[in-house]
Amino acid sequence: MSTTDLKDMAELVSLCKRRGFIFPSSEIYGGIGSCWDYGPLGSELKLNVKNRWWNAMTNRDDIEGLDAAILMHPRVWEASGHVDGFVDPLVDCKKCRARFRADHLTPEQIDSKNCPTCGTKGSLTEPRQFNLMFKTHMGPMEDTASLVYLRPETAQGIFVNFENVQQSARQKIPFGIAQIGKAFRNEITPGNFIFRTREFEQMEMQYFVKPGSDMEHFEQWKAMRHKWHVDNGIRPNKLRFHEHAGTELAHYARAAFDIQYEFPIGWQEVEGIHNRTDFDLKRHQEFSKKKIEYFDEATREKYVPFVVETSVGCDRALLSILCDAYRLEGERTVLKMHPELAPYKVALFPLMKKPELIEFSDKVYADLKRTFRATYDDSGSIGKRYRRQDEIGTPFCATVDYDGLTDQSVTVRDRDNMTQERVPAARLTDYMRDQMKIWKPS
Ligand code: ATP
Repeated sequence: MSTTDLKDMAELVSLCKRRGFIFPSSEIYGGIGSCWDYGPLGSELKLNVKNRWWNAMTNRDDIEGLDAAILMHPRVWEASGHVDGFVDPLVDCKKCRARFRADHLTPEQIDSKNCPTCGTKGSLTEPRQFNLMFKTHMGPMEDTASLVYLRPETAQGIFVNFENVQQSARQKIPFGIAQIGKAFRNEITPGNFIFRTREFEQMEMQYFVKPGSDMEHFEQWKAMRHKWHVDNGIRPNKLRFHEHAGTELAHYARAAFDIQYEFPIGWQEVEGIHNRTDFDLKRHQEFSKKKIEYFDEATREKYVPFVVETSVGCDRALLSILCDAYRLEGERTVLKMHPELAPYKVALFPLMKKPELIEFSDKVYADLKRTFRATYDDSGSIGKRYRRQDEIGTPFCATVDYDGLTDQSVTVRDRDNMTQERVPAARLTDYMRDQMKIWKPS
């Protein structure tokens, strides 16, 4: 049977809406610019993505967790360079009002000023610098003294807490701080579903190292982060590194690599790994007038640590997982995602709505729910029920039939290869656990 990957993001958007993964925000009011809400299955999937990241990061002795506030002292953003430097060059078409980021246009388009949307010759404006930070006011007075920003990245919450964490957790360098949280950017050109939005979640880890050892740690983190995406079930041929060179490098970075995924819209960044040097800690020292130094007891040295950062968008990683999992196989649409990420691990079907089958099904279902997220479906043909579960990526479907009442077994059908196996109900959770352990993307 021929299998095709996702070709058009619109197919995924439609599946996500129909099956309750992701809805347009405020939809009954017509939606609001590139904001999305995660539905019953989407919120479950997102939690699974976050848990995998959190466990990979914090289930080791050298990384601590943090959950810093979104609103921070406005001086933080002066120190970080965001007030002056977090700008994108904005270009408008005077005719059709389309907006572009100048750095996304080709040199030819910039020179000719011809609009890529309506084609009008010479209609593009000169680039204007547009700051991407959302502003709001703290307290009842809307004056300049009350101005605060919604954080455009989670990293600064980690930098300003470097000493609090290091001292309270008694960590020695090298060590890291990991955080998951919302970030906000007033993007000029959001779009492509949840790829680029104005409100999104980041999963960031800053690893503090001794100056001079930074490139060695950088290389290690590059490899570990690539492996994380592969371990999530992403097919390795759909991942690649992209190095930032020359003008692409951010003001704070000595080295930067993106991990890119081949989305239906082309190769795009999912995660960035950056060597941020001692830029941020030194700037916070300067702006806060507080010393931020590490004292190495073994060597009796004092220094400002260097930082290797790994920064992945939760929503964007989730989008790569959905895009990669999506397959069209003949009539069937299936999300072949890693079983550990799937919103439901198992669906239970009584073959028919007969009291004796229901009674046994209820018992098996209650047992399953003690271990796994499970769902129950007793409507329509078994074939239809399989299709429903395929579309939402449920790795196992267990059917209770009349034979099961005598041998206390169920028929387990595998999502990826559609094979069926009789499994004793008492062994079902162990069977699923074993199968999940040996799962490979296909
Ligand atoms: P770009 O240049 O594409 O705007 P960036 O290189 O500034 O992005 P980073 O600041 O490195 O992005 O952000 C780290 C990660 O956060 C990205 O790899 C991406 O996964 C995620 N991310 C950044 N901006 C957005 C956004 N607007 N919507 C969703 N995720 C985002």
